[in-house]
Amino acid sequence: MILEGGKILSSKLLAEKFKCTHEVAVYIVTIGSDLEKRVAELGVRDLYRSFILDNIGTYALRQVFEYMRKDFGPNNSERISKISPGVSTYWGIEQQKIIFDFLGKEKVRESVGVILNEHYVMVPKKSVSGVMGDTINLFHECQICEKNCEYRKAPFSGK
Ligand code: SF4
Repeated sequence: MILEGGKILSSKLLAEKFKCTHEVAVYIVTIGSDLEKRVAELGVRDLYRSFILDNIGTYALRQVFEYMRKDFGPNNSERISKISPGVSTYWGIEQQKIIFDFLGKEKVRESVGVILNEHYVMVPKKSVSGVMGDTINLFHECQICEKNCEYRKAPFSGK
């Protein structure tokens, strides 16, 4: 996928899912680092609460994304799909760097406080990046992910 300015996101999955889409949004969203700090504090003395709070953080991050999705495609939000680097083998985690380069890593750090470490992992942890756009038929990354995961949104439908 060639972005405005010429940067290239290399993924067969992106190419296939967004092949009929002329407009996509490249995004980084986060709920910040406060919850993460609290999770770590609680983890020392109350693992159960720490676990619950961590899950609330994951849920909150998903809600932020849902809000963004409706904003991006108010008339067809049910067809707006997202794909994130590193979630499946179909798009490598190292491509996070292209997203940060495209959006401007300094701008991202100043505006939302997210940085990318040397392992291409975002800090704070409760952050997500990716590309979203109209895929005509809603696509969930869970459809190509075999993990046994409590956050699954769609059944595995094969590779
Ligand atoms: S099954 Fe879980 S890990 Fe896999 S894509 Fe879905 S939410 Fe992510």
